[in-house]
Amino acid sequence: MSADIIDGKAFAAALRARIAAQTEVFRAAAGRAPGLAVVLVGDDPASAVYVRNKGKATMAAGMAGFEHRLPVDCVQAELLALIDRLNVDPAVDGILVQMPLPRQIDADAVILAIDPAKDVDGFHPDNVGRLAIGMPGFVPCTPQGCLMLLRDRLGDLSGLDAVVIGRSAIVGKPVAQLLTATNCTVTLAHSRTRDLASIVRRADIVVAAVGQPQMVKGAWIKPGATVIDVGINRTEAGIVGDVDFGGAAAVAAAITPVPGGVGPMTIACLLRNTLIAAHIRIGLHIAEGAL
Ligand code: NDP
Repeated sequence: MSADIIDGKAFAAALRARIAAQTEVFRAAAGRAPGLAVVLVGDDPASAVYVRNKGKATMAAGMAGFEHRLPVDCVQAELLALIDRLNVDPAVDGILVQMPLPRQIDADAVILAIDPAKDVDGFHPDNVGRLAIGMPGFVPCTPQGCLMLLRDRLGDLSGLDAVVIGRSAIVGKPVAQLLTATNCTVTLAHSRTRDLASIVRRADIVVAAVGQPQMVKGAWIKPGATVIDVGINRTEAGIVGDVDFGGAAAVAAAITPVPGGVGPMTIACLLRNTLIAAHIRIGLHIAEGAL
């Protein structure tokens, strides 16, 4: 193995420490802590773990966490009514509804109901549109985390060839938009892409967000490339990414491990968005470079 390991866990811990420091500054100025409301519908064990971890990280950063649980058979109107209350609650700066939702609930209706000013997941069309046209808004957390790791590793990304594999609204597309905004030349690949191997082979940056265990092979990677593996796949051998880590690490210059790469950045970026939302709501600014 020759690649440097990009330590997302350490980077996220340092980011959370900076967020905690800025949270103190906010608290002193506003007389209250930034508040994040997390809504969990049903009792899916993986979702419950995510929600618990988000709650713990919120408290650890010195923010106020509000957890709301609704039963798996709750009707859509009940969830929308809760979102309406959170939208006008002055103690709540960010709202996150844990996905996936039970079948009787239309996820699009839920996303549309969240006040874009409190949409710390960045899924509301208002924020999606802002990202698309380069206006300030809330950027989805996992893509923001990928960009921060890349910038930390590579500095200026201008002119680099980037391939993003996966075009979902929550990962692939926003990653491609963020990389375009940083002046990369971006190829967005998906399940209908022809000869993915040769497309990946010319990339300086590879971001894999596919959901297929170890699909991206080491032989596809250009020597010296930087590889960001977003995949989280539960296999008999444990949790693995979308990239064949051993094969890719032999040729890449740097690579994120799974776990411990992109994963920890998601919650850190959620806290970051919540802190930004809290500042914007009361007209305060975060010092340049503080986050
Ligand atoms: P989706 O299932 O929504 O999207 C997967 C994308 O991969 C689609 O665009 C699909 O193409 C594409 N794809 C599927 N198979 C292939 C293939 N053989 N070749 C090329 N492209 C392919 O997944 P998500 O974007 O939600 O998640 C992707 C991965 O990231 C998952 O492993 C998920 O667990 C992980 N994840 C990790 C997070 C974190 O670190 N915190 C957060 C979110 C996700 P098409 O559009 O044509 O169907």
